[in-house]
Amino acid sequence: MKVKKNIFVTGLVAGIACLLSACSGKKPVTIERPSFSADSAYAYIERQMAFGPRVPNGAAHMQCAVWLVQQLRAFGATVELQKGYMPDYKGDSQQIYNIIGHFNTPETASRPRILLGAHYDTRPWCDEEEAYADRFYNVPGANDGASGVGVLLEVARQVGKRMADSTFTTPVDIVFFDCEDMGTPRTYTGVEREDTWCLGSQLWATNYAKNQSAVYSFGIVLDMVGAPDATFPREMYSTQYAANYQQQIWHAAEQLGYGAMFTAQQSYPITDDHYYINYIAGIPCVDIIHYDVRNATGFPHWWHTRNDNLDNISKPTLQAVGEVVMSQVK
Ligand SMILES: [Zn+2]
Repeated sequence: MKVKKNIFVTGLVAGIACLLSACSGKKPVTIERPSFSADSAYAYIERQMAFGPRVPNGAAHMQCAVWLVQQLRAFGATVELQKGYMPDYKGDSQQIYNIIGHFNTPETASRPRILLGAHYDTRPWCDEEEAYADRFYNVPGANDGASGVGVLLEVARQVGKRMADSTFTTPVDIVFFDCEDMGTPRTYTGVEREDTWCLGSQLWATNYAKNQSAVYSFGIVLDMVGAPDATFPREMYSTQYAANYQQQIWHAAEQLGYGAMFTAQQSYPITDDHYYINYIAGIPCVDIIHYDVRNATGFPHWWHTRNDNLDNISKPTLQAVGEVVMSQVK
C-alpha cells in the first residue's frame, strides 16, 4: 500500500479531524459481542508464516494459496480461483491468483452480499530497511499480509458455523487478493507507477465491472491489523467513497469498547485494495489499516522490513478487529 500526501489533502485532513473530534460522543452503549477467537486467528497467522514469505512466483506462495483454498472449503465456502495477468512495475506480465470463498445458502443466494478482503502475498523486498543490502530480502509479512488473512479465516470459520446452524442471513464473499505488495521497489531506478500496487484487486475489480456477477452492499478490506499498538484512524478514500459504512463500522467499534484503537482521527488516502474496489468496481469499501501519525511513513517502524514477524502480532488487536468485522456480518 502507498500513502498519498499533499498539501490539499493535509488541509482537508486537519479540517475533518477537527469536525470528528468535536462530535465524538461518550455515551456508554454496548452491543452484543460477536463470536470470534483471536487464538484461532493467531494460529492461522502462524501457519502462513510457516510457509515462509508468500512472495508471488515462489513455492511458499503457491503452497499458501492451496492451503487457503482448502481452509475456505473446510469452512463451507464454494471456492473460486480467479487467475489472470497484470503488468508489474517493469511492465512484465505477472500471474495473479485471487482466491474467492462464496458463503451462501439457497435461501440467501439472491440477497446483497458483503465483501471481505485481505491480501495474502508478501512483499518481495524489504525496501524500508536502512542498509541497502538488506533491501533485497523478502518481507516475512506477519502483519503485512498474514494478519488480515488470519482474521478473515477466523471470520470464515464463524460464518461457516452460522451456515451449519441456520443462523445465517447475509451472504458473504471472502477474497484473498494476490500481488497487493508488488508496488515499485525503492531500489528501482526507472519510472514509478502508482498502479503497480494492488494488482490482484485491480484484476478482481476489472472483472467485476465487466460481469457484475453479484450485488454487494459494501466491502471491508483488512491490512496490517495485528500490531500490539495498532491504531486505525479513518482512511481518506474510505471516507470519500463509503462514508456511511465507515461511520457504521467505527461506531460499532466504539460500542464494543475499541474506540481508542478505531480513532476518530482522519488519515491520509492510502492506495490499498479497497481503492480499486471503490474506484473500478463501484462497491463502497472501507479499509481497516494500521496508520500512526507519529511515524514518518505512517506505518509501524518495522513495516516493509525483516522485522515484520510474529513478535509484532498481538491477540488483543486481532480480537478487536475480528469482533468489529463480525459485528458487520449479519
Ligand atoms: Zn505492504
